[in-house]
Amino acid sequence: MIGAGPIAVVGAGPAGFYAAATLLGEGFAVDMYDLLPTPFGLVRAGVAPDHPKIKAVTRVFDKTAALAGFRFFGAVEVGVEITREELRERYCAVLYATGTSADRRLGIPGEELAGVHAGSDFVGWYNGHPHHVRRRYDLSGRRAVVVGNGNVALDIARMLVLELDELRPTDTAGHALTALAGSRLEEVVVLGRRGVAQGAFTNPELRELGELSAADVVVHPDEATPDPLSASWLATDGDGTARRNVEILAGYAARAPEGRRRRVVLRFLRSPIAFLGERRVEAVRLAVNAIVADADGGLRAVSTGIEEELDADLVFRAIGYRSVPIQGLPYDERLGRIPNVDGRITDLEGRIQPGEYVAGWVKRGPSGVIGTNKKCAGETVAALLSDAAAGRLASVARTPEHPVLGGSPAVSWEGWQRIDAHELELGRRQGRARAKLVTIDELRRAAVVELAAQR
Ligand code: NAP
Repeated sequence: MIGAGPIAVVGAGPAGFYAAATLLGEGFAVDMYDLLPTPFGLVRAGVAPDHPKIKAVTRVFDKTAALAGFRFFGAVEVGVEITREELRERYCAVLYATGTSADRRLGIPGEELAGVHAGSDFVGWYNGHPHHVRRRYDLSGRRAVVVGNGNVALDIARMLVLELDELRPTDTAGHALTALAGSRLEEVVVLGRRGVAQGAFTNPELRELGELSAADVVVHPDEATPDPLSASWLATDGDGTARRNVEILAGYAARAPEGRRRRVVLRFLRSPIAFLGERRVEAVRLAVNAIVADADGGLRAVSTGIEEELDADLVFRAIGYRSVPIQGLPYDERLGRIPNVDGRITDLEGRIQPGEYVAGWVKRGPSGVIGTNKKCAGETVAALLSDAAAGRLASVARTPEHPVLGGSPAVSWEGWQRIDAHELELGRRQGRARAKLVTIDELRRAAVVELAAQR
């Protein structure tokens, strides 16, 4: 046991919880801060509602929160209500695990048109993230286009074609259920700039698309065969995931549509180069791409000069996330992350900032599945423990009081447990997994008022 004083963990998502579990095990006290009154980061606000098994990881985090020495301060904006300097004064070390809450943009003409949306906003909207619930999506058109070939693109495509009967039992936010129930979309086109061998999908997610009850999955046969460079890469260095993706996609290309009321069409070697329309998006101009090899052997897409137009009523970018800078902390604009060496925060010149650490997507970028953050947080905590053992951490005693920050009291773990019980009970009454509270005000209220009093 190395531990002693208190450590602040900023961000109550998977990376924050995995780090907290190890730190508590080493004898440190942990104060966890989050911007929202609720914990669990992307497990609550990112994982698609039709994937409840993935969300079950919160049981592991509940066990961590039950350990002696853990405290939660929800609804606190670090950098604003409590500054970097205040955290450094109050704690032996501060570990930031704030994730990547902004989306990446394409930077092409027409991106500002109505109807062109950030996928990350849409994900937050259907998951009831308080910062996104006021958004409106016009689902009265026939075709949506999703740009990107990762799992987020597939989540969005699925959410747009699932039947109401499939969504209702889940924890999809109430406003999203109502809007999706009135959707007139018939087709969702998912665009990959590279080919079938370069999809960033994982196999189960891609397979799941072929099992949808209300949508046929369509792959054009002439796009299903890898180009020669990709075929030779698959045969030599290609990983198993890529090989299986190519097989799954070939299977989809061989299928005859079964006349379901919706279709998900996976297109490859197509890059949007402009969104067209007067005030709203009406079409996407696409470059038809070919795969070429880089000097280092990487395979990338280049335009063949051929262009196509695809009518579109709605567009979502799902080309990756970026982190948002935290006031007062170094931030690498180019990489969209907090600069660090093995989890130790550095300034932009690479100088270590003693006692400050980073873990999860804000450390390494948005990649991997939830469990990947366990290893990532483990590496950061190892750096912290070695600094502690070397006497490089400040010696600070924990303050016993529950801080009142920025005029509003923070939401405690007990407060979150009240919110949780309240949402589960509301859900039970509606035959749903959970009925989420979606505004900061109602979440704060539920955190302090017993369920019985709210009936
Ligand atoms: P991602 O896996 O990094 O995929 C991003 C996609 O966007 C790639 O296909 C990329 O193509 C494409 N892209 C990037 N820039 C582009 C551009 N300018 N034009 C066109 N396409 C562009 O990101 P993500 O889907 O946001 O997912 C983030 C992480 O969360 C991933 O690790 C993912 O597996 C994980 N996740 C997991 C689940 C799950 O397990 N069920 C669900 C959701 C998310 P290139 O490859 O050509 O760059």
